[in-house]
Amino acid sequence: MKKILFFLSTVIMAFFPLAHATEVQAKFTLKNTWQRVETRHTIIQYQSSKYLVDFDDTISYSASGFSFGNLFSNSDANNPAGSLAKKLDALYERVQHILDMRGNLKKVRINLYPGKTELGEAYRTITGQECRVRAWYIFEANTIYVNIDDIDAGMLAHEMAHSIIDHFFAVRPPEATAEILAVYVDQHLED
Ligand SMILES: [Zn+2]
Repeated sequence: MKKILFFLSTVIMAFFPLAHATEVQAKFTLKNTWQRVETRHTIIQYQSSKYLVDFDDTISYSASGFSFGNLFSNSDANNPAGSLAKKLDALYERVQHILDMRGNLKKVRINLYPGKTELGEAYRTITGQECRVRAWYIFEANTIYVNIDDIDAGMLAHEMAHSIIDHFFAVRPPEATAEILAVYVDQHLED
């Protein structure tokens, strides 16, 4: 009997984490209608190429620093992927510089949603709760979730900081520490 119990507990211990991991993973799996563009540091995921153009229009950033949206647009409707790659990678490297956490880390995914409703749906699917944030990052999926109608370079930099902080150290820092560092990035982005 003892032997059987031992065997059962081993089986349960062996299978439970796996079942749990599969269940968690399923929440993050995107339908095959999603497309992706890989940049040096990010993987942009979107369902319509229009979202890519809109995202490019919304994010104003250049390697030399901030540019303010309407003053001069650095978007490119003919090549939004190329234009975004430049901006996102420059922003990511700026965040790495502020944090002094350089090097090639695991590419962060950025899921684009066209509005508050779609972003809220994604939040509910993953957390089972109502969405009260404008953007968020999940370590388990190494993914940033954004509403292209309500995002800016500062918000994106904050979420990128979470991915960098969570992957730079062999052990993930405590949540409160990570948040302090991510807020520090927001505050020093324009320095
Ligand atoms: Zn945060």
